[in-house]
Amino acid sequence: MVSQRIKDELKAEVSEMKAKGITPGLAVIIVGDDPASRVYVNSKKKACAEIGIYSEEYALSGETSQQELLELIEKLNKKDDISGILCQLPLPKHIDEKAVIDAIAPNKDVDAFHPVNVGKIMIGDYDFLPCTPAGVMELIKESGIEIKGKECVVVGRSNIVGKPMTMLLLHEHGTVTVCHSKTRDLKEVTLRADILVAAVGVPELIRGDMIKEGAVVIDVGMNRLPDKRLVGDVCFSEASEKAMAITPVPGGVGPMTIAMLMKNTVKAAYLNA
Ligand code: NDP
Repeated sequence: MVSQRIKDELKAEVSEMKAKGITPGLAVIIVGDDPASRVYVNSKKKACAEIGIYSEEYALSGETSQQELLELIEKLNKKDDISGILCQLPLPKHIDEKAVIDAIAPNKDVDAFHPVNVGKIMIGDYDFLPCTPAGVMELIKESGIEIKGKECVVVGRSNIVGKPMTMLLLHEHGTVTVCHSKTRDLKEVTLRADILVAAVGVPELIRGDMIKEGAVVIDVGMNRLPDKRLVGDVCFSEASEKAMAITPVPGGVGPMTIAMLMKNTVKAAYLNA
């Protein structure tokens, strides 16, 4: 698996860094008791332990005030053994996510959500790439398909996935179209895609008849159904009849997101050394 290969490479790199006196450290903040967030935070801590990255968890109650959270971030910004800070989203309604993202020092912003890092991605001169789109790029490269000149369609335009995904494909010379909830004829657009990335949050929205024969399909979606099954934004059984390569849910993009977070934390350790 690509994610395991990346983690193995990072493990070797961290061991060399430690010999030179640099230990990457990740602080993970979770506010409230959202079960999905808890699962993600546990996976991130587990990956840190596997690679040899020092980690700290700050599990705060759902009643934590915005001021208290901002003070914690300020403390972590100055903490020498912490190279990366991650605040698990979503946050409780009374906390302004933007204020929290803005408070994280850009050189410790391993999610790459801070406006400084977003701007750097836009101009193609960045320290960190956002973890999910970066993971998708690795998977596309792994499929062997060249992005240059290809029709790329991204379904979804969130700040976290869709928009940065679009920029990364553009940097690799794809011809990129972005779709969203107001797109008039989604199928007409997706059928043009040589590379299709679905980041929507609607279970199995992308059906087999929306996919071009031989396309590469990347499913970012993680949707929990009432019967507890986890499905993507793509109907896997139908799409796999058409696609040349397709990522499954679970087990496709999710593990890559975590591997890329680890990569960013290692990079942050160099930046903050
Ligand atoms: P958001 O809800 O922030 O964005 C969803 C996007 O999809 C919006 O741009 C929205 O359009 C668009 N959209 C919604 N309905 C439709 C529709 N019917 N047709 C076309 N476009 C539509 O979600 P995220 O980007 O944060 O996440 C997307 C999915 O990816 C979720 O399932 C999430 O759980 C998953 N995810 C997975 C990760 C991983 O590691 N595998 C990491 C992050 C997210 P509009 O802008 O017009 O509202």
